[in-house]
Amino acid sequence: MTNNNNYIIANWKMYGCINHLKSIKRVIKISKKTNFRKTKIIYCPPFTLLNSFHKLTNKTPLNVGAQNCHHNEFFGSYTGSISPHMIKSVGAKYVIIGHSENRKVGETNLTINKKIYSALNQKLKVIFCVGETLNEKNKKKTNIVLKKQINEGLKNIKKLDNIIFAYEPVWCIGTGIVPKTNDLRNNLIKIKKLIKNKFRSKDPIILYGGSVNSKNIVKLNKITEIRGFLIGSASQNTNKFIDIIKKSII
Ligand code: PEP
Repeated sequence: MTNNNNYIIANWKMYGCINHLKSIKRVIKISKKTNFRKTKIIYCPPFTLLNSFHKLTNKTPLNVGAQNCHHNEFFGSYTGSISPHMIKSVGAKYVIIGHSENRKVGETNLTINKKIYSALNQKLKVIFCVGETLNEKNKKKTNIVLKKQINEGLKNIKKLDNIIFAYEPVWCIGTGIVPKTNDLRNNLIKIKKLIKNKFRSKDPIILYGGSVNSKNIVKLNKITEIRGFLIGSASQNTNKFIDIIKKSII
């Protein structure tokens, strides 16, 4: 490995039906090779596929996570929602929280905080997404936004042990744009500082997400502050995803 890239996470978003499961078998095969041992490959399919994914990947190096959860830990009158307890019960071990596509439709830092709290109570590992919009970036508000997202999202959370951060500039998600290397590196360093100040912790794990593909992965991989990648659309195509996995590890 060229750096510490220990996580490659596939966010399938609202894609994937039961017949797409067979394509995963090729990724399972690759994940068993020795040079992949240090890397965790995590699939976050839609809720409808969580249990099938778990059955297929159980006893393999692949891991499974959900893309979101309700803030109520167990059960309740919340039509259409899925709780951390329910996610855990079907075998998933991770959950993405605070994704910008959910923030965009009204998810607040307060709700995100409650979700993180409930997910951690259920012993799920949280992939906590933060990132500024284009408007915020243009108004030079990136630092303020990141600080607010981290401080409010992690209010009353005592330990970072089960939290992985994903820095996802909103203007890079699904746009084909990735930040300039120096800007990305600076923002990652800022995020790391904010987290370290808040938790007096050792180095937090921070991933990068936003238009990662098989063409830009080699360049991104050289940024030592990045500990892995959260990959959306390029993860939905198994050939592309395998290409990224191979290039990010060699
Ligand atoms: C995402 O949805 O988290 C993401 C990074 O998407 P994409 O890779 O498609 O930009």
